[in-house]
Order: sequence, then C-alpha cells, then structure tokens
Amino acid sequence: MADDLYERYQNAYAAHRSHHGTCTACTDTERCPEGQRLFEVFARLQTAYLNRQREQRR
Ligand SMILES: [Zn+2]
Repeated sequence: MADDLYERYQNAYAAHRSHHGTCTACTDTERCPEGQRLFEVFARLQTAYLNRQREQRR
C-alpha cells in the first residue's frame, strides 16, 4: 500500500532542506518568505503524520 502522507511529508522535508541549503537569505534563526512557506508545509505534514502514527498505535 502506498503511503501518500508519508511520501508528501518526506518530499516536503527534502524541499525545505534543499531550499535551506541553497538559499542565502535563510539562516538558522531566520527564514525568507519562501523558506517559511516550505517550512510550514513540512511542519503541517509532519504533525499530520505523527498524529496518524499515534492513532494507529492505540
Ligand atoms: Zn530562503
């Protein structure tokens, strides 16, 4: 079974990492608007994924 949520979560993580690695405006403490957007997408998917993991363990 394809795990769509997990894949989207991993893709969002990769997108955020690669942006952070190449963007000169993003630092450890500050993000440019695009970096912030990518981080929020990643954070939202991570929360959804972890919540689902918890649900399944019950
Ligand atoms: Zn950036």
